[in-house]
Amino acid sequence: ATPISTMIGVGKAAEYGVLIRSGEALQTASRLTTLVVDKTGTLTEGKPSVTDWQAFDDEARILGLTLALERGSEHPLATALVAHAEAASATPAAIRDFTSLTGRGVQARGPDGERLLLGNAALMQETGVDLAPGRAWIEDAESRARTVIHLAVDGRLAALFAVADPLREDAVAAVARLRQAGLRVVMLTGDAASTAAAIAAEAGIDDYRAGLLPEDKHDAIAELQARGEIVGMVGDGINDAPALARADVGFAIGAGTDVAIESAGIALMRNSLHGVADAIAISSAALRNIK
Ligand code: ADP
Ligand code: MG
Repeated sequence: ATPISTMIGVGKAAEYGVLIRSGEALQTASRLTTLVVDKTGTLTEGKPSVTDWQAFDDEARILGLTLALERGSEHPLATALVAHAEAASATPAAIRDFTSLTGRGVQARGPDGERLLLGNAALMQETGVDLAPGRAWIEDAESRARTVIHLAVDGRLAALFAVADPLREDAVAAVARLRQAGLRVVMLTGDAASTAAAIAAEAGIDDYRAGLLPEDKHDAIAELQARGEIVGMVGDGINDAPALARADVGFAIGAGTDVAIESAGIALMRNSLHGVADAIAISSAALRNIK
């Protein structure tokens, strides 16, 4: 596009709450063939809450450990567990050596030096925690699109939390609109496969990859690009900054964490996937103007 039609396109997009950082991002948006969408905080509201839980040990102790562990994490799931523990008037345990394990959970030492791990099933499996006592409970929760968070104390399963994170209210309509625009829509998530399947089905997405670490999301995009796809990626910047940066065009959603805005070429101020379809429509119109 000419500098003039690019400027007009950028201005038009701003009216829709779509902030385009470069002429290149605007031009590439009209050529996208695949749109990759992160699950948590992008397709979903990112305001998760605990709906049910199961303790295999003293409840007050478990909630105190959970509260202490998640107070130190910035992940949206951590907010849900903190709210849950606080609602039960938990007292935070004195933990130390806290470490955040990106895309998997958190770990620390408890007051008596116990090894604490809180996070997804992959994290439990890696460290040899036997999930058998919770198997039926986990399967049931995941089939209801819940994200299951596991707490292990000294290598033993101590509690399970089922977290619901509903789809954004316009997610189904926006996905349908993007597909109508000819895009292939693929959901990427660090969540478990069965939870991912349930959410993807609700959203009308048939292609998804689950159990991904942040670098796996980056690699999944590189793989699509190697097959000739021109890939847009929508994410909230939590665990998906490498993927946002790798995509041909990155779209930051979720009132934008700073990370997301820095790694993305386009920022969606309205917090809706419709912003992606708007950006594509405006991009196509801007390019048509000069033909
Ligand atoms: P998504 O790809 O859906 O946006 P993430 O990559 O952010 O999800 O996280 C992947 C998974 O890692 C989560 O579903 C959760 O099971 C686990 N996880 C990450 N951070 C935390 C945390 N602070 N507390 C508990 N679990 C966590
Ligand atoms: Mg996310």
